Amino acid sequence: TVGMACLDNCGGMTAATSTSGLFMKKKGRVGDSPISGSGFYADSKRGAASATGLGEDLMKGCISYEIVRLMGEGMSPQEACETAVNRLEAELKERRGEAGDLSVVAMNNRGQWGAATNIEGFSVAVVTQSLEPTVYLVKRGGDGHC
Ligand code: ASP
Repeated sequence: TVGMACLDNCGGMTAATSTSGLFMKKKGRVGDSPISGSGFYADSKRGAASATGLGEDLMKGCISYEIVRLMGEGMSPQEACETAVNRLEAELKERRGEAGDLSVVAMNNRGQWGAATNIEGFSVAVVTQSLEPTVYLVKRGGDGHC
């Protein structure tokens, strides 16, 4: 998956997600990636978020919408990402004893970003107006912050 959260010069925010889907998926399966609120969500007044991992689990938390909602309540992108991943993971474990992979990135309308995961780690590239990307490794339980 490639997931993006973007802020333009006029304050507009967008989110995007591309995916090859889940390995060995059944024909006709629709994952979280094309579903607004699950695979991606953006609201220029609050922020944008994108998710990757096990779509069936990410959808249960509407996780991208949840992150944007938490940023709207005043959380930083990092706090919102960690809170959403930790809460959804805890809920899934309570319900069925395990949780699938959950990884997220987000940005608020001030250009601050955050990321969180329940897997070992994944890479995030941050690109500003200089167009020089800076790559961070986001780790489980770590502070993948700017
Ligand atoms: N979230 C995608 C899906 O479940 C898989 C991925 O991370 O690309 O279809």
